[in-house]
Amino acid sequence: SAATAGPGSVHRYDDALCTEEDRRATLRTDLTGALARGELRLVFQPVVDVVMHRTVSVEALLRWRHPLFGDVSPTEFVPLAEESPLITDLGRWVLREACATIAALGDAGPHDQALSVAVNVSARQVRSGELVPDVIHALETSGLSPSRLVVEITESVLLDDSHVIEDLTVLRRLGVRIAVDDFGTGWSSLAYLVGMPVDVLKMDQYFLSDVEHDPARRAMCRVVLQLGASLDLPVIVEGVTNEAVLTLLRDMGHRYVQGYVFARPLEAAQLAAGAWDMSLPLPGALPEIPAAA
Ligand code: C2E
Ligand code: MG
Ligand code: MG
Ligand code: MG
Repeated sequence: SAATAGPGSVHRYDDALCTEEDRRATLRTDLTGALARGELRLVFQPVVDVVMHRTVSVEALLRWRHPLFGDVSPTEFVPLAEESPLITDLGRWVLREACATIAALGDAGPHDQALSVAVNVSARQVRSGELVPDVIHALETSGLSPSRLVVEITESVLLDDSHVIEDLTVLRRLGVRIAVDDFGTGWSSLAYLVGMPVDVLKMDQYFLSDVEHDPARRAMCRVVLQLGASLDLPVIVEGVTNEAVLTLLRDMGHRYVQGYVFARPLEAAQLAAGAWDMSLPLPGALPEIPAAA
């Protein structure tokens, strides 16, 4: 695959040959105008409370339909955007678009619980110093209550200089929640997390790979969940692909799950149609519908 191939390897697309480096260079160039050309959109993946069997939030995930390459994964193009200040523009758009989409759903959710939205924010975006004004602007223009926005950062961001911690603290005072994404494989320790401006942990998908068969992986998974409990922080386990893993997590007493087992990321139209509402008698796993060409 593209991810495992070494440098200089050759891939076929659209009957043309191009190297990994060619592809990256093309994507880097094209990404600059992608937003203006309407090639970017957000999809929204439900996070399910398996105790109450309802969706508590959705995570906004960026999608790019490239005119030549087709769908390009954010794992490929977000790192390219992060090489330049472009990530700040993209990040600002993602915040506004996510808040506007969720605000448009209104206040009503199942059990009178309004839906929250989690937005991924890159390290460079946090370090730019523009995160606080960007969040405030997204909330003001959309009218979304700050309590319905979650900002997802990665562990390494918390290791940064104090202005980053101060900015996250400001967001929390506004009522915005902070989630630590891909938690557990980095530097984090119990001692370090105490006193950090953090509200939610999202366990790294690493802990789920082969967890059904590997007792060691299962033990690590349990430790991460216990760490969250010790810190009194809710943990979301993402990447739950099948029933076997879901059962395992439920046996551990785990509560918040995001994964294909419940729902793929949903288009905004599916979200507006109520497809996120797990209390409705809809099929649990909905396909990620491609946008109109
Ligand atoms: P992430 O924030 O950790 O997002 C979770 C990823 O897991 C998503 O991949 C989601 O589609 C995928 N996933 C969810 N459930 C399952 C499952 O059951 N099985 C498997 N195999 N995967 C599952 P996606 O959408 O490809 O995004 C990849 C990464 O790209 C994200 O990881 C995040 O780091 C980054 N990203 C996506 N959207 C944005 C964005 O708007 N801004 C920034 N800065 N980064 C973004
Ligand atoms: Mg995330
Ligand atoms: Mg993650
Ligand atoms: Mg990630």
